[in-house]
Amino acid sequence: MALKDFVGNEHAVRFLLRMTEKGTIPHAWLFSGPSQVGKRTLAIEWAKLLNCQSPLKTDGGLDSCDQCPSCHHLSPDRPSYAQTHPAVQVVDTTMVAYWEAVEKAKEAEAIDPTKLKPKLSLGINAIRTIRETLTHQTLWRYRVIVVDEAERLTEEASAALLKTLEEPPDRTLFILVSSNPWAIHPTIRSRCQPLRFRLVPTRVIFLLLKAKGLTDEEASFLAKLARGRVGWAVNALRDQTWQQVREHLNALLKMMVTMSWWDVSRFAEIATKGLEEFESEGEASMASQRRQLEETLEGLMLGWRDILALALGAEDLVVNSDWLPMLKQAAKSPNWALKVLWELRQTYRRIRPPFNANPQLAFELLAIQAMQGALQ
Ligand SMILES: [Zn+2]
Repeated sequence: MALKDFVGNEHAVRFLLRMTEKGTIPHAWLFSGPSQVGKRTLAIEWAKLLNCQSPLKTDGGLDSCDQCPSCHHLSPDRPSYAQTHPAVQVVDTTMVAYWEAVEKAKEAEAIDPTKLKPKLSLGINAIRTIRETLTHQTLWRYRVIVVDEAERLTEEASAALLKTLEEPPDRTLFILVSSNPWAIHPTIRSRCQPLRFRLVPTRVIFLLLKAKGLTDEEASFLAKLARGRVGWAVNALRDQTWQQVREHLNALLKMMVTMSWWDVSRFAEIATKGLEEFESEGEASMASQRRQLEETLEGLMLGWRDILALALGAEDLVVNSDWLPMLKQAAKSPNWALKVLWELRQTYRRIRPPFNANPQLAFELLAIQAMQGALQ
């Protein structure tokens, strides 16, 4: 792909193109905004344009040729460890796990990067590795370091990165990517040129899905489920696991709607199912666990948002339209839906740092609160 294929957040593309054409590019950037709206993709596409050997002049402005050897080395579809551009480095929790595995591996041992478990944080070693690469001369026009999920930088790593940002090497850009920018060290934030991304309109995602061959009905359903996250919609085309996730959510929602005391523990067990296998595997597993729980809670919030819409008589706003009969059963009063939504939000907060509540207990509490809401 090239910049012309980037969907949504046109203001961000225009801004980067203006900077590129002017030739005065700040050396540190913070791409922030909701997850899966294309922040990392655009960072890589921009790095591609900056190093492209024969950039094109199109109606929309400059664009990479997507053909030259430099362009060939970069693809936003590839994971961080499979990017092969000598001057562009994507650092994320998987890359850190990869570096760690390389360090540990004996020469003869092969590493299977697809089996790596992402780390919970970006530690000091990641920044040391970057700083080490910066000491080498480069013949490329720009060296670009993309730090994905920059809010995961540890205190120590932040301090080291700050030092690098304060003595910027020549022709080197740092692009920090984050959906939770307030968790980034404030001094680092203040050193960066901010670029904010927004959710992509459902209509734009719908048209993209149509262009990829989906029928009106399929495209409309998926575009609504994507809730502005264009990356989610594109992934859903490639990988069908979202359907299993929805089945899981459907079962949980059904239980919540008809919850009784007997179901409380069972509900929590199903909600946290699959987590046991992560146990005692340390830090990496905690990250995967938390992501899985967050996704479950987000899905449940969307379900209860639909129930609230129905309770208020706004059926048009329902996203999970294939679940209508079950959702209608729960749409007894807006107050109940609001109460459950509030409790879902609280559960979300409890399972995250600094609280790190036991997931089983957190979900049991959620079930009890949901049930009490129904009785009121
Ligand atoms: Zn090129």
